[in-house]
Amino acid sequence: MKRGKIAIAGAGLCGTMMAIKLAEYGYQVDLYERRSDLRKTDMSAGRSINLAISDRGLNALEMIGLREKVSAEIIPMHGRMIHPSDGKNTMYSYSGREGKYINSVSRGGLNMTLLDKAEKSDNINLFFEADVKSVDINSSTLTLNISGQESTKSYDVIFGSDGAGSAIRRTIQKSGSRLRFDFQQKWLSTGYKELHIPPTSKGGWKIEKHALHIWPRKGHMMIALPNLDGSFTLTMFTPFEGPVGMDRLDTDELITEFMEENFADATVLIPDLLEQFHTNPTSPLGTIKCYPWVYNRTVLLGDSAHAIVPFYGQGMNCALEDCVVLDQLIKDHDHDWDKILPSYQKQRKIDADAIADLAEDNFYEMRDATADPVFNVKRLIELRLEAEHDYYSKYSLVTFRADVPYHIAMKQGRLQNSILYDIAKIVDDPTTVKLGPILKQINQYVSERMKSI
Ligand SMILES: Cc1cc2nc3c(=O)[nH]c(=O)nc-3n(C[C@H](O)[C@H](O)[C@H](O)COP(=O)(O)OP(=O)(O)OC[C@H]3O[C@@H](n4cnc5c(N)ncnc54)[C@H](O)[C@@H]3O)c2cc1C
Repeated sequence: MKRGKIAIAGAGLCGTMMAIKLAEYGYQVDLYERRSDLRKTDMSAGRSINLAISDRGLNALEMIGLREKVSAEIIPMHGRMIHPSDGKNTMYSYSGREGKYINSVSRGGLNMTLLDKAEKSDNINLFFEADVKSVDINSSTLTLNISGQESTKSYDVIFGSDGAGSAIRRTIQKSGSRLRFDFQQKWLSTGYKELHIPPTSKGGWKIEKHALHIWPRKGHMMIALPNLDGSFTLTMFTPFEGPVGMDRLDTDELITEFMEENFADATVLIPDLLEQFHTNPTSPLGTIKCYPWVYNRTVLLGDSAHAIVPFYGQGMNCALEDCVVLDQLIKDHDHDWDKILPSYQKQRKIDADAIADLAEDNFYEMRDATADPVFNVKRLIELRLEAEHDYYSKYSLVTFRADVPYHIAMKQGRLQNSILYDIAKIVDDPTTVKLGPILKQINQYVSERMKSI
């Protein structure tokens, strides 16, 4: 069936997914991407940037028939491998349940898979080197620069999925007080730098393949996710300034000393550490909250509406879940965009805010708490509760329960955590403590307080 004309700014992860879904319904979709076609450029660097994908993201891929294909190109990570300073590494499962884990996926590889599928649709026109400059929200018109040519084009609906620096959002911001657009950008004092552990000479993994590795160091940390070629992408999260600040690491001696002192077991695995350290930038991390996301027929989705810090591994999962929410609303409102769009922002904003806050909390948990003995007692009890009872930790609610909206997962998970943390402080042995009374105590505490939402 022929439907309306839709423009999507940004052929990243969620823009391309949305295009595929809309095209399936019969919409004519113009998908504009500022960069060149990443399938035709040298991806040797970009391919090794990886992301954690979990149930919400996989659920969204299922919606467009790509779950199976992508699942063949991901690496399960069953738990966090904690690398403490004393070298006594310990693996903590992500869930007490069998078959519940997160996965490492190549960002570039996933984007290419989505683009391949989009390209096969007769209803999608893909434009590369197509820079969306601005939007006129009254006439739903885009101003574009395609390979140096300026043009304007009008649509029935315009999606701004052009990432954290969204040009669509910037146009709305520039319109001034008339639109009463709320905008908040909050930067962390910590930045990130990506490094790379090469594979073994036989193409194997130098450290445990099926884990997300964390080196928590109070105040800073490093993580590593595996790649299919046997390598790992490491990400250092370090303050820009201060005693362990990036600004201090300005000579080869200081960099080597810092790395050997803090991450000795990883440092020996990176033969060209200094070159990587100097070449790879230190980038900032921030959260963007804004509202409204909808003006007439222009709508923000993905990072353009809600960029979050990466510590829950949920930014992409959340962006892809936006498409699932929109798809359900398209069905519920039978393609009436005047109903779909307001419902989308109303339903989704509360969840986007929740995952933004959870992601910031998790920064402190990964950086500091994973090295805290009480945290680890709490985690052991939680894993036993999950294995033996109908219990989901905060992490599991967020990561493995796509049926639970983020704001509910946050509220319930925080309540569970607060009581369980108190219990963990007084437990002698988390491997033998009786779980029945603990579960009863948690359930009572949580249910009394959840009544208010
Ligand atoms: C260090 C780091 C680690 C992360 N790790 C994880 C993780 O483990 N798990 C997870 O779920 N999330 C993770 N994220 C978050 C994730 O990367 C984002 O949430 C996700 O990429 C958002 O997808 P998107 O499609 O909204 O935006 P993007 O992926 O940013 O795509 C936007 C697209 O729009 C294009 N574009 C921009 N401006 C224009 C324009 N003017 N005209 C046309 N095109 C334009 C861009 O080129 C890009 O292709 C991480 C983020 C960072 C920074």
